[in-house]
Amino acid sequence: MYSKNKYELGSQRSAIRELFEYGKKQKELLGEDNVFDFSLGNPSIPAPKKVNKAIKRAINRYSSNDIHGYTSAQGLVDTRKAISLDLNSRFGISSDCEDFYITCGAAAALACVFGALRENSKTEFIALAPFFPEYKVFVEGVNAKFKVVPFDEDSQINLKALEDIINENTAGVIINSPNNPSGIVYKKETLDSLGALLRKKSQELGHPIYIISDEPYRELVYDNITLPFVPNIYENTIVCYSYSKSLSLPGERIGYVYVPKSAQNSKEIYAAVAGTGRALGYVCAPSLLQRVITECASVKPDLSVYDTNRKLLFESLTQMGYSCMHPDGAFYLFVKSPKGDGNEFSNLAKDKNILIVPGESFGCKDYVRISYCVDTKTIERALPYFKELIK
Ligand code: PLP
Repeated sequence: MYSKNKYELGSQRSAIRELFEYGKKQKELLGEDNVFDFSLGNPSIPAPKKVNKAIKRAINRYSSNDIHGYTSAQGLVDTRKAISLDLNSRFGISSDCEDFYITCGAAAALACVFGALRENSKTEFIALAPFFPEYKVFVEGVNAKFKVVPFDEDSQINLKALEDIINENTAGVIINSPNNPSGIVYKKETLDSLGALLRKKSQELGHPIYIISDEPYRELVYDNITLPFVPNIYENTIVCYSYSKSLSLPGERIGYVYVPKSAQNSKEIYAAVAGTGRALGYVCAPSLLQRVITECASVKPDLSVYDTNRKLLFESLTQMGYSCMHPDGAFYLFVKSPKGDGNEFSNLAKDKNILIVPGESFGCKDYVRISYCVDTKTIERALPYFKELIK
């Protein structure tokens, strides 16, 4: 006996991973330089020097048992204190270490929050297209229902459609700004309107509707745009964060859940996050990395390479006639398919060894996503092929 549902999840890779694996094989066949892999959001800039120094220092400073041993399930107090101090100074909040649960990246953080807010089998979470495809897997993984607000090209969030979808089973709305796959950064006005709508609906329905703010790209914002801190706008916000992208540490699996005291039932939710972590086996995030974050909680990435890539790709493709969403954050360009739907265009591009992800899995089938966290030379060499593709 085995789970058919989990079998399906395990035996079919996501569209993104499928392309990434294909790219690795093609590179073996054709050589690294002849395959243009824009599939995965794997940071291409190295981890900051301070991070590497902190890793070495931690190895020298602590005993092997300390550094490789279990920590508390929710993470080291010092790590949680360091994160809390950093957020307090940047966003004018008054969090403390009790509000943080350290996780193996944003993936575990999200799964813990969905599990914590799921009340029964009718509980629903709403994502706003375009959205990170794994949300569906994480929500359904805790036996809750996954709903989607369709993409509206004319507004940052389709509030009317969101209002129509919200019902008595809605536990939360997932937002992700800067956004994967579109690079959009929500303006303060957008978040104000979202907060007002959720307050109104929470009152009508008699229970809080939480924002689950998925923030792995928080530090990846360009052109001096200010990113609003969502708990400062909407009190019932729970934050899921990761150092995967900001410190280029995706394989090290480190992030956190922040449950602000402003959130209704914050104590119970925090305990339920810990309970879900326990139920799913997400306890005690990597001990070495916790010590590194203790030292590096306020380290920020050098975005110059991503910024160069962003401008080069956006300006070149726009000039060629592609219609691209303007990327203000993260490291993705979301492009309207010039031919057929995104699947068709992704296949045409694949024939030229350009690997771009069809928008279908993000809830926008007319688009494709280009990850520009690559060497700038890869973009330069790929541009003539993009030109051929739009001819
Ligand atoms: N959320 C979004 C929007 C992402 O793009 C990703 C990873 O690409 C994750 C969550 C998961 O991040 P992590 O590697 O920290 O688990």
